[in-house]
Amino acid sequence: MILGRRGRAQAAYSGPEFLALGDLENVDGVIDGADLDLGAADPVRPGDPAAAMEVRLAREFGQREPRPGCKRIVFHYLTSPLVVTGSARVEALRYGRNKLVIDESGLLSSKLLSAKPRGEEGSLDTSLVLRSIGYRGNPVGGVAFDEKRGVIPNERGRVCDRVFVSGWIKRGPSGVIGTNKVCSKETVSTLLADFEAGRFPTTVGPVRTRRS
Ligand SMILES: Cc1cc2nc3c(=O)[nH]c(=O)nc-3n(C[C@H](O)[C@H](O)[C@H](O)COP(=O)(O)OP(=O)(O)OC[C@H]3O[C@@H](n4cnc5c(N)ncnc54)[C@H](O)[C@@H]3O)c2cc1C
Repeated sequence: MILGRRGRAQAAYSGPEFLALGDLENVDGVIDGADLDLGAADPVRPGDPAAAMEVRLAREFGQREPRPGCKRIVFHYLTSPLVVTGSARVEALRYGRNKLVIDESGLLSSKLLSAKPRGEEGSLDTSLVLRSIGYRGNPVGGVAFDEKRGVIPNERGRVCDRVFVSGWIKRGPSGVIGTNKVCSKETVSTLLADFEAGRFPTTVGPVRTRRS
């Protein structure tokens, strides 16, 4: 069972990853009706194709009939773990159900909705709990750091004079290699603009060459 604190449209997996799950041999992705029909509780912003794709795939999984003898991966959305219980070993997980709220930025993207408890709780019997809540950047000495987001604050990749960032430390731990290509193009164009604007030193040390 996979618990996700937000809805289908905000799930942190990418569409292609979700799609690939559907092709695993002898494994069924299962989404219960209650989690499929979140309606207004899980809005998809119009013009957000990635979120729309995730919702569409979730519906497709939901319509499939689980095959006898296959392993099942059951998705539960709008659910957060609260407490792991058990005496000598893990025996159960207490969870809370959530609602989605629009954060300060407004509904600019379906991904920007936050999960808040809605006051309903339940329990799942289990002997194993695995945590998978993403990654976080670490600070680097002498460079500003945004503790809340785990990123180095920057403007189009520029941190300060002659210091640049790209990738997850620039925008947070999301996206794939292709996303980082676009991200680093932006950083490099900022760097080149700074170079052309004379923000780099004009004198450099001697170039070291290897002795033959
Ligand atoms: C489990 C997992 C699976 C993934 N699978 C895919 C996939 O199949 N396809 C895909 O496209 N993307 C995938 N991704 C995403 C992809 O890995 C990231 O988008 C990408 O690695 C981010 O690049 P980055 O340069 O920001 O960070 P990284 O690739 O993490 O590079 C940061 C580098 O900085 C180094 N570093 C850290 N601190 C310091 C320091 N103080 N001084 C010097 N060096 C330092 C680190 O050692 C590291 O080498 C996956 C990510 C994860 C976590």
